[in-house]
Amino acid sequence: VGVGGWSYAKIVEHLSPAVSKFSPVVAERGSGSYVWTTDGRKHLDFACGIGVLSTGHCHPRVVAAVQEQAAQIIMAQQNIFPASRPMVDLLQRLETVMPSQLTSHFFCNSGSEAVENAVKIARNYTGKQNIIAFDGAYHGRTYGAMALTTSKTVYRQTFGPFPSGVVNAPYPYCLHCKARQAAGGLGYEVAPNTPPLGKAYDQRQCCGGPLESLEWMFKTHSAPSETAAIIIEPILGEGGFLTPPPGFLSALRALCDKHDMLLIFDEVQCGVARTGKWWGHQHLTDAQPDMLLFAKGIASGVPFAGVSAKPHLYDKMSPGMMGGTYGGSALGCAAAAATLDVISGEGLLQNAADRGQQLAAGLLRLSEKYPIVDVRGRGLMMAAEFGGADGSLAARPHTAADVTHAAGLRGLLLLGAGARETVRFLPPLNVSESEMEEGLGLFEQSLEDVFG
Ligand code: PMP
Repeated sequence: VGVGGWSYAKIVEHLSPAVSKFSPVVAERGSGSYVWTTDGRKHLDFACGIGVLSTGHCHPRVVAAVQEQAAQIIMAQQNIFPASRPMVDLLQRLETVMPSQLTSHFFCNSGSEAVENAVKIARNYTGKQNIIAFDGAYHGRTYGAMALTTSKTVYRQTFGPFPSGVVNAPYPYCLHCKARQAAGGLGYEVAPNTPPLGKAYDQRQCCGGPLESLEWMFKTHSAPSETAAIIIEPILGEGGFLTPPPGFLSALRALCDKHDMLLIFDEVQCGVARTGKWWGHQHLTDAQPDMLLFAKGIASGVPFAGVSAKPHLYDKMSPGMMGGTYGGSALGCAAAAATLDVISGEGLLQNAADRGQQLAAGLLRLSEKYPIVDVRGRGLMMAAEFGGADGSLAARPHTAADVTHAAGLRGLLLLGAGARETVRFLPPLNVSESEMEEGLGLFEQSLEDVFG
């Protein structure tokens, strides 16, 4: 069903075929956790623009802030007007939510841009070239960010060569590793204290390996004297919602301090209250990164992103070395400030934690009946990985795509994640208890469609 006299097929003829298209629908209107399409259907949105719609669709306070700002000044270009009133509003709010040492903010428009700029800062400040990134990471689609991305080959194939100076390290999540299987095989990585713990698996039993392999990489791939930074998603996003074991991020901090490297947390997907804390890393470490990257959920759908850094990292920069036409636009700042106000004022950190527990408990319950081999994540960044019908870890190819397709037909929007058969849940942070029950019910029906 199309719109404006054009059929869906005709619309698509005019769009790049290289962008994947989830289902043949045209978006019309969104409100809270729901989207309506031009075919008259209503969808429960647990994809949320890939984790962007932190306050749901068209939250009245965000809409009002954007409308008011649009009528005042849409664009106060950052080179011409270093600040605007909404930018100051945003800076004041960031001061209350950012790790205390990250007091200098650079604004841009997308997660990829934030990554690119973090690499520039790291290389400039350290005078070193190489960046360590993790297997399965997703950092974006621009060339530098793509060079750091290994969550799926489809994001890279035929596009190389990529900028050099990237070294990949194993990400410490052990569902598929030999040591874990030797220690008892299947199990679930769920947030501590998430009832019921079910077959919860303690990652500490497993892989101390990744830290050792980093030390080994310093001997074999990139000496510390050439390594500028380690970039990590504290909770891996597109790669499948994997959480590193306790102590890992703190150990990275110590390693960076030891070797004069910078630690960059890419919180584009796991940040801005998504996990029930302001920043995903706060579940795992008290240590602060040198830079924290945010985008997606920060402005409820208006393009906005940034690099928050320790201020001394700019000691070797001069004006003009960084910039961008749209970065820090007044409209984006207003949307971001309003989003942070809604998250604080409406108790969304607690709601994300509570609804996340409800979701994890529901998925664990479904894992008793369907071939789900791992339920993992924090808060409202939760994933279920499928295994084989025989109870093994080896899922039939396309299982996740079949499940998300079945869910889409039933009116539940879900996305897959990573190169394994994983479905991820990214509901709005203000999703209600009954909407979560509705989502779990639709998900169960979709599982029945695929496996029943
Ligand atoms: N980093 C992470 C962790 C992401 O999840 C994404 C987007 N999925 C990006 C960077 C890139 O963000 P954008 O699509 O806004 O460029």
